[in-house]
Amino acid sequence: MTAKIIDGKQIAKDIRSELKDEVAALKEKGIVPGLGVILVGEDPASKSYVKAKERACEEIGIYSDDNRLPADITQKELISMVKKMNDDPKINGILVQLPLPEHLDEAEVIMTIDPTKDVDGFHPVNIGKMVIGEKCFLPCTPHGVQQLLGRSGAEVSGSHVVVVGRSNIVGKPVANMLFQKNKNANATVTVCHTGTKDLAYFTKQADIIIAAAGRPNTVTADMVKDGVVVIDVGVNRVEDASKKSGYRLVGDVDFDGLKEKASLITPVPGGVGPMTITMLLFNTVESAKQANSII
Ligand code: NAP
Repeated sequence: MTAKIIDGKQIAKDIRSELKDEVAALKEKGIVPGLGVILVGEDPASKSYVKAKERACEEIGIYSDDNRLPADITQKELISMVKKMNDDPKINGILVQLPLPEHLDEAEVIMTIDPTKDVDGFHPVNIGKMVIGEKCFLPCTPHGVQQLLGRSGAEVSGSHVVVVGRSNIVGKPVANMLFQKNKNANATVTVCHTGTKDLAYFTKQADIIIAAAGRPNTVTADMVKDGVVVIDVGVNRVEDASKKSGYRLVGDVDFDGLKEKASLITPVPGGVGPMTITMLLFNTVESAKQANSII
C-alpha cells in the first residue's frame, strides 16, 4: 500500500479561508478580533514563529497588537503587561511566546492570562475543561492534529490511537481530545513514553499513530500494521551536508518506510506545522465571538 499524503498546508489554507470569511462577517457587525502577542528576548526561532503569526493575522483580518520586550524584563513588568491585555477590550486572545528566559516564571505568566483570552489553551482552567469535555479553547497543535484527521477522512471513532509522547503541550492533550465522546474522537487511546517497555508492541496494534517524541525514527515501518494512519508532530533537525543550512527537518517517524505501509501520513514539513498557527487564529475568532455573545 502506498499512503496518501495528508497535505497540512492545503488543509490549513482551507481553514484560514473559512476564518477569513468569518472575520469579514464579524467586521460587518463592527467586531474586529484582536490578538495580543508578547515576545520576550531575541530567540531566533521564537522571533520567526511570532512573525509568522503576525503575517497570518494580517492575512485573515485579525488585529494584532505586537509587543517585543527586552530579555531582562522583570516578572512584575511582564505580569503587568499581561494584566493590561486582560483588561483591553480590543484584545480577544493573548499569546505569550514560550519558552521565556530562565529568570521568568512561565507558570505564573500563564496563570495570569484571563482564561477567556487564553487562545493557546495552556491555562489550567481550559485544560481542566478539555479533560471533562466542556467547551474551551483547545491547545493549538493537538487541535490541529484532530483537524488533519477529520479533514483527511480518517476514521477516528472506534479506532485504536497510539500516542507516542506525554508532554503537556502535545501528548497529554491530544490523547485526552481523541478519547472524548466527540466528532473526530471517540477512540480508544494508548499513551506511550520512555517508560513504555516495548513501544512496537503497542504501535503494531494502532489504527492511528500520533508521534510526538521529538526524536527521529522513533516509529519505523516494522513497528506498524498495514493501512495505519500516521500523524507526525515531530520537528527535528538532522545534519545534511547537501543543504545550504547544513541541516534538514525530519519528523519522528521514518517517513519513507512508513509511506509504503500506511494509508494516510503527514509529511514534515508541511503536515502538522501549518496547523498550529491556524488553530490559534481559530481560537482568537472564537474568543471574539464569545466576547460579543455570538455563538
Ligand atoms: P517533549 O516535551 O520533549 O516530549 C516528548 C515526549 O516523548 C516525552 O513524553 C517523552 O517521554 C516521549 N519520548 C521521547 N522519546 C521516546 C521514545 N523513544 N519512545 C517513547 N516515548 C518517547 O516534546 P513535545 O514538546 O511534546 O514535542 C514533541 C515533538 O513535536 C518535538 O519534535 C517538537 O518540536 C514537535 N512539536 C511540533 C509542533 C508543531 O507545531 N508542528 C508543536 C509542538 C511540538 P518521557 O515523558 O518519558 O520523557
